[in-house]
Amino acid sequence: MTEESAALYVVPTPLGNLADLTRRAEAILGSVPWVAAEDTRHSAPLLKQLGSRARTLPAHQHNEHEAAARIVERLQAGESVALISDAGTPGISDPGARIVAAVRAAGGRVVPLPGPCAATTALSASGLLDEHFLFYGFLPAKAGQRRQALEALRAEACALVFYEAPHRVLDTVGDLASVFGERTLVIARELTKMFESIHACPLAEALDWLKADPNRQRGEFVLMVSGAPAGADDGEALRVLKLLLDDGLPVKQASKLAAAITGAAKNDLYEQALLLRQD
Ligand code: SAM
Repeated sequence: MTEESAALYVVPTPLGNLADLTRRAEAILGSVPWVAAEDTRHSAPLLKQLGSRARTLPAHQHNEHEAAARIVERLQAGESVALISDAGTPGISDPGARIVAAVRAAGGRVVPLPGPCAATTALSASGLLDEHFLFYGFLPAKAGQRRQALEALRAEACALVFYEAPHRVLDTVGDLASVFGERTLVIARELTKMFESIHACPLAEALDWLKADPNRQRGEFVLMVSGAPAGADDGEALRVLKLLLDDGLPVKQASKLAAAITGAAKNDLYEQALLLRQD
């Protein structure tokens, strides 16, 4: 790269609430000569609102190689480019990774901006207490492949984070329930939008909850499953815990008894009990 100052800025955009655009994102989008957008028509109103006079170039999943080459050319000519996707952070279950890789391979400067991302937004309000999480993004669309992917995650002791579209949410939640047994599921829907909802329940009850109201199946979803409890049959421990809670025992006593009966860790069960009681 010839120009030290030119950079590829990776710019997160709002998931739904325009006020979530950071001041830094606003400044970059308002000042760069080029914006590479997943869908230039979709992003036009945002750029117009910011008074951006940037020229746009398409950078979607079907032209990423070509877009990367064009972006590298712009940077080599000393012109900065901001990379945006339709919503959230580029490169996170969105196009962008190939462009970043190409710019880095060409010795270009890549500047990431922090900002909206559905996975971290959902996790922050999930109430899941797992110390670690595994971001999976979208599962395979085909049932057999999806089941296989889930089986491979069954023993992971961290919270599992999935993205899902409304037309597949029932199938996916059904598969989550049959593969992971009675863990907790947190369903985060329409984050930052008018009908935002965050619901935690035992996985075994999630399908019924979704089916009880068609509105619960609409919009955009982040699905989060609590991690596999260490050293215990998680299904059995949660089943016992739930029975005790349903019988009216207080959270502390129910988790202590369930731990004594099943050998699962008392603290893990206490955390699960708190989540179950929220609902
Ligand atoms: N790059 C984006 C990010 O940083 O989160 C993700 C883009 S991916 C193509 C779109 C998926 O993200 C949706 O299908 C949904 O799973 C999730 N998502 C995006 N916006 C959301 C929202 N407002 N509420 C819940 N999930 C959302």
